[in-house]
Amino acid sequence: PPIIGLDGVRKTYRTGSLEFEALRGIDTAIREGEYVAVVGPSGSGKSTLMNILGCLDNPTAGSYLLAGEDVSTMSEAQLAEVRNRRIGFVFQQFNLLAGLPAWRNVELPLVYAGLPRQERRERAVAALERVGLADRTAHRPGELSGGQQQRVAVARALVAEPAIILADEPTGNLDSRSTADVLDLLDGLHDAGRTIVLITHEHDVAGRASRNLVIDDGRIVSDTPTARAGVPA
Ligand code: ADP
Ligand code: ADP
Repeated sequence: PPIIGLDGVRKTYRTGSLEFEALRGIDTAIREGEYVAVVGPSGSGKSTLMNILGCLDNPTAGSYLLAGEDVSTMSEAQLAEVRNRRIGFVFQQFNLLAGLPAWRNVELPLVYAGLPRQERRERAVAALERVGLADRTAHRPGELSGGQQQRVAVARALVAEPAIILADEPTGNLDSRSTADVLDLLDGLHDAGRTIVLITHEHDVAGRASRNLVIDDGRIVSDTPTARAGVPA
């Protein structure tokens, strides 16, 4: 079975008496190990879809099966639990805690998971090694470049070995060199069998994924393999 199954997903925002349907019936399935980019213009519904996929919000209608579990009707508390257990996030703004050294940022998902201190520290340091920051574990975010901060965020996203990595415009604030580094890291995670969903409005970034879902006006308007599909790992 697919790791992600969306069936008739709709999202309506209500502002006073006004209603706006940001997602108008999304049907798709993503298999384990796929690397999918969701592409579309501003206002097309990408963030709304990301919030649903990331268990940050419920759909107004339709179902969302995540690793076989129906998460579409869960409470906030249940969603938070599923989110911590199943999903690693990478955001455009890095979302690191400024007062904490890199390794403490990276261990946060393991704190939520209730792992003992020593194991958390070892796994956080190992994750930082994987993203090429073995010599920066004690640095605070303000002491790191933007590209390094985003690599810390990638380490945080993978440390708990989540079923899915959700990356929302992860290169939007990076220069071309750091963009290449972060996209290479995502390639490596894909090669290692991770499921990745990348939200972007940049077509060359989307081309790094193996499948592109194009969304416009709250609907999927195309779903195609990229030139990278089928490239051996
Ligand atoms: P994208 O990420 O592709 O730019 P969004 O999912 O952010 O698109 O937004 C899709 C549509 O839904 C837009 O028209 C936006 O104005 C509207 N929208 C998004 N969030 C809200 C909200 N909280 N309340 C009302 N309308 C919203
Ligand atoms: P965007 O830049 O797409 O608007 P944000 O970075 O503002 O996205 O975050 C979107 C949502 O995700 C917010 O509701 C925020 O509280 C939540 N969020 C941010 N960081 C995390 C995290 N590490 N884990 C879970 N949820 C988060």
